[in-house]
Amino acid sequence: MTDILTHKQRSLLMGRIRGKNTQPELAVRRLIRGLGFRYRLHQIDLPGRPDIVLRAEKKIVFVNGCFWHRHHCSKAYTPKTRCQFWDAKFAATLRRDRLTLAKLRREGWGVLVAWECELDKPDVLMRRLARFLSRKTRKFNSRK
Ligand SMILES: [Zn+2]
Repeated sequence: MTDILTHKQRSLLMGRIRGKNTQPELAVRRLIRGLGFRYRLHQIDLPGRPDIVLRAEKKIVFVNGCFWHRHHCSKAYTPKTRCQFWDAKFAATLRRDRLTLAKLRREGWGVLVAWECELDKPDVLMRRLARFLSRKTRKFNSRK
């Protein structure tokens, strides 16, 4: 089969297998540690195998790449070729994300999604994390 993806597209595709220990994830972990919280990584017994799990607080932090998870920012551009292919990929990722979040929240977890681009302003993200982590998780909380 001839290679129909450009080099850039292919490397993006490889990178999508929810990268473990990616740069953004490491940076978010550093912030959380800096706030004095303890966490576990990649808990396979939870839906979506969350990046960062704080069992004591009953909180979960996902670190999402803006491109794959379609953040509303400039990093989530859409490749100009093979539109159908990308649309299908993105739709599948978003559907999976939605299901995962819904399942976790139903199980009583507080979930925060940290975006890759938020690391451009680490102090702002740190405050957001601090607010989230110190807030009590209400059981069966249906709020977003
Ligand atoms: Zn973004």
